Amino acid sequence: MCAGEREVSQMSKLSTLKKIAQQATRYRGHRMQWGQVYGRANGPQSQNGQCRDCKAYVFVQERPAPNDIDISGLAVAVNCKD
Ligand SMILES: [Zn+2]
Repeated sequence: MCAGEREVSQMSKLSTLKKIAQQATRYRGHRMQWGQVYGRANGPQSQNGQCRDCKAYVFVQERPAPNDIDISGLAVAVNCKD
């Protein structure tokens, strides 16, 4: 029961990060195509996406390393086809 609830909250966290990343990349003119989700079902998960047009990457992770951030990649840093 507890494990199930935990799983749901982590899934929704990944989808929240993805939604933020989606908005940020769309603002920059990218058309993101999302790849597979990495990580165990009951552990922190991550997912990457790539722009269909300029091939810029974005990477979202629920539990980034201390020296990393939860949303990273060129697609949130530069405009499409810059
Ligand atoms: Zn692009």
